[in-house]
Amino acid sequence: MPDLTLLTPVEKLQGVGPAVARGLRELGLFRVGHLIAHVPHRYQRIEPETTLDNLPHDHVVSARGEVTASRLAGNRRNARFEIVLEDGHGRLDVVWFNAAYLQRKIKPGHWLRVRGTTRLYNRALQLANPEYEILENAEAEPAIDEPALRPVYPASEHIASRVIERVIARSLDRILPLIDDHLPEPFLAERSMPTLCEAYRRVHAPKDEDEAAGARRRLAYDELLLLQLGVFMRRAQLELAKRAPALAIDDALDTRIRARMPFTLTDAQNHVVGEIAGDLATDRPTNRLIQGDVGSGKTVVALYAMLMAVAAGHQGAIMAPTEILAEQHFLTIKSMLADSRTKIELLTGATPKAERDALLSRLEAGAIDILIGTHALLSEGVRFKSLAVAVIDEQHRFGVHQRAALRAKADDPKSTPHVLVMTATPIPRTLALTAFGDLDISTIDALPPGRTPIKTRLFAPQQRSEAYALVRERLEQGQQAFLVAPVIEQSETGIMDVRTLLRDLEAGPLAGFRLALMHGQLSQRERETVMERFRAADLDALIATSVIEVGVDLPNASVMCIENAERFGLAQLHQLRGRVGRGDHASLCLLIADPTTEDATERLVVMEATADGFEIAQRDLEIRGPGEFFGAAQSGMPRLRVADLARDLDLLTLARKDARAWIEASPELARPEEESLRRRMFKAVGKELGLVEIG
Ligand code: ADP
Ligand code: MG
Repeated sequence: MPDLTLLTPVEKLQGVGPAVARGLRELGLFRVGHLIAHVPHRYQRIEPETTLDNLPHDHVVSARGEVTASRLAGNRRNARFEIVLEDGHGRLDVVWFNAAYLQRKIKPGHWLRVRGTTRLYNRALQLANPEYEILENAEAEPAIDEPALRPVYPASEHIASRVIERVIARSLDRILPLIDDHLPEPFLAERSMPTLCEAYRRVHAPKDEDEAAGARRRLAYDELLLLQLGVFMRRAQLELAKRAPALAIDDALDTRIRARMPFTLTDAQNHVVGEIAGDLATDRPTNRLIQGDVGSGKTVVALYAMLMAVAAGHQGAIMAPTEILAEQHFLTIKSMLADSRTKIELLTGATPKAERDALLSRLEAGAIDILIGTHALLSEGVRFKSLAVAVIDEQHRFGVHQRAALRAKADDPKSTPHVLVMTATPIPRTLALTAFGDLDISTIDALPPGRTPIKTRLFAPQQRSEAYALVRERLEQGQQAFLVAPVIEQSETGIMDVRTLLRDLEAGPLAGFRLALMHGQLSQRERETVMERFRAADLDALIATSVIEVGVDLPNASVMCIENAERFGLAQLHQLRGRVGRGDHASLCLLIADPTTEDATERLVVMEATADGFEIAQRDLEIRGPGEFFGAAQSGMPRLRVADLARDLDLLTLARKDARAWIEASPELARPEEESLRRRMFKAVGKELGLVEIG
């Protein structure tokens, strides 16, 4: 097969029959290029082989021998497969438990390499449940006489790591020369990195741990560099193609805007307002992430920016991830702007058709100044007359695509709004530098004054009544509570649902108090009514699912009690806890949990130990990894296969610095020598980042 290329289908490779090919395809490995990029996720050390007369007991050993006898023993449900291996020096008994199927695979006359822990059984040496490999040609397969590293590949039920290993090992030498590097040699040398070809050799067939680590470093760097190049290219494309309205601010306007707010801004808010006003004053489209822990007061900061747009004769918009939150923004902002001429409207998926049509035509005519809503704002037919400031609240729920979609709402193709993204889930530093790497970042790093820290306590399910007693105490003092359960309807045993919880509480622990349900199956009207009554203190407690998770702001609520807390993610628990502690009362967060996994226990311990959103985000990233961190697959975060954002901060910093310099020098990567770099970058992240191919 003289014409092997990276595009050659895997089934053309030596030793790949239909079954193996099917297994490889199932893992997404269709072509030689995919195969070579399928890197081991770890390595296993293999000990030198020992002859059978020389085996120590209670040791991990590797050895080979011919199968001289085999039999199936035990009963049907508990079959043992026993063999004897001999190598001319000695003999060894080998047994596999519950392994009747091995009888069909391992036959007398086969040569086997085995690896496992020896033990003494009835005074004879025995190897139980070893890993094994049938040597097709024992003479040709050299005995392993030095410790070696064996790659362990991501595999599946249908294809074992060992098979993948064999396929790659057989063809590696022919594949490697096909790999051209997309980075120049001097560039790599400066960073002490191997060429791509060498990196692939080392990652698949390392001599030792150092080689494997060095190879991994190069491949991880590549992933991060491609991502960062994409991020900086996207920013360059935006800035070159589009202008945003420059919004002026002076003392008079500043005073007028602040007069609308029912409190003085904190230093932390002022600082961020200053950064935003600086951005908006120029026609360079703002792309800023505002992170501030739950309750830090992001809403008024957003309002400030939107009012700058309105004052200059443009429009502002804020998009929230849930209807409840959009409604709340609408109410808050409306009350702050009561008796002003500013026209505010709410648009969600639940807005009736006739109302929506009327609203949209007023929007297009410029008769609405601030539009508040859910992702309904992105739907077709929503056209602004002149959108100058677009705010996306709680971005961790949204993909990066939303930013682009919202930008596209500007009427004039050459113009784009300033975009502010707000999140209460602080993005750990590493992630902030990746898919969000083209955002400037502002942090509201202090809470408004007068907040008392929230006390968090853990309860086992049997201690539930203690938790309820604490809730009751608060309600008796006229404060309010949230009681959260993971599901609406009873499903599994041991999982609390809101209906049962309501019934149980009414029947005893919270009898006599005014309780109501809040969950996603209620209509918007019903939810509004419930929220309205809760806000008016016409209800004492809400029995809710996590729909109340984001942004709900009710200062009189001072207890958050969460059932089956082990079922919630860390970010989610932190969000839920943030629903209380917004007023003057010292608030409580009560976690009722029965954790059965290490991760779940870890999350609860973190919750109890810290209230710092940044720390929680970092721990969350470590526990779950970045893919999960954003919750949704469509978060716009390209999948990283080699790089590990919880660990590779130094590589990321390097990749970022390199990418920035590179794009400054060559914004479109259009130089001829950049051809393969450019192609690979588009392939890796172009779609996720919404990059436009120019030329
Ligand atoms: P988040 O950052 O979670 O969106 P919000 O904007 O909902 O926070 O604000 C939380 C609460 O703090 C609201 O009740 C808001 O009115 C109040 N708040 C915001 N800024 C201040 C301030 N500077 N002084 C006093 N209270 C404030
Ligand atoms: Mg908020």
